[in-house]
Amino acid sequence: MTLTNKTAVITGSNSGIGLGVAHAMAKAGANVVLNSFTDRDEDHALAAEIAKEHGVEAKYVAADMSKAEDCRRLISDAGACDILINNAGIQHVAAIEDFPISKWDAIIAINMSSAFHTTAAALPMMRAAGWGRVINISSAHGLRASPFKSAYVTAKHGVVGMTKVVGLETAKEPITANAICPGYVLTPLVESQIPATAKEYGISEDEAIEKVILAKQPSKEFMTVEQLGGIVTFLCSDAASQITGTSIAADGGWTAQ
Ligand code: NAD
Repeated sequence: MTLTNKTAVITGSNSGIGLGVAHAMAKAGANVVLNSFTDRDEDHALAAEIAKEHGVEAKYVAADMSKAEDCRRLISDAGACDILINNAGIQHVAAIEDFPISKWDAIIAINMSSAFHTTAAALPMMRAAGWGRVINISSAHGLRASPFKSAYVTAKHGVVGMTKVVGLETAKEPITANAICPGYVLTPLVESQIPATAKEYGISEDEAIEKVILAKQPSKEFMTVEQLGGIVTFLCSDAASQITGTSIAADGGWTAQ
């Protein structure tokens, strides 16, 4: 499939899933706009690498997804936004009564409200272009809960709800909005948790993966960023034109339970 002449804007894309999805979009021919809140040479270098590797246009726009005005500026600075991938996200784990208010506010802003602001800014561009895709990276935690993740579970459920609304508001247009709900994906963030978990439980790293980290994932396998990129690419294809307002679980059977 070719996404030539389309521009994909991916929030939180200087590492992990966002960067992997940016490569998938560029491989399919789309120009890409990378983002995070930092403004380092290495961030801009990532865009230059993608441009060189895939022969597309790529740029990096620094914008803090915890701030409404930055979310909206990201879309205007992008210049075009045919494919919007809301991916930026953070996590904090604590019991509700100990959950820091600042962490609650940050998770709700970055993991949920940012998608509202970017979507509001991007839809007029998609309408003007006559085609659009909104793809929200939610989580298995957008469909199921775990203790000690109140803000994350709330935000990810919120994103699933907002995806339905955007799907309905654009239903008669050549625009779709969908959420992807991954289980555990092997990103640097998750990789770094493996030795720490093994140490904490006094078990091997293999046991930490199977018995703790992937305890809820029946496949006992991590998803890869390349597989996630493949789902995003599919959602941009003509075959997916009638898929809208829904959530695609990609969780090795987690939410089948
Ligand atoms: P990651 O930490 O590698 O990536 C998060 C990205 O968000 C980074 O690029 C980071 O710079 C960016 N970010 C953080 N705060 C930001 C801010 N204020 N403004 C702009 N960007 C900001 O983690 P990841 O595992 O790649 O996660 C990406 C998304 O996928 C998140 O929304 C996460 O909740 C979701 N997810 C991850 C997994 C998993 O197992 N890794 C599973 C389900 C869902």
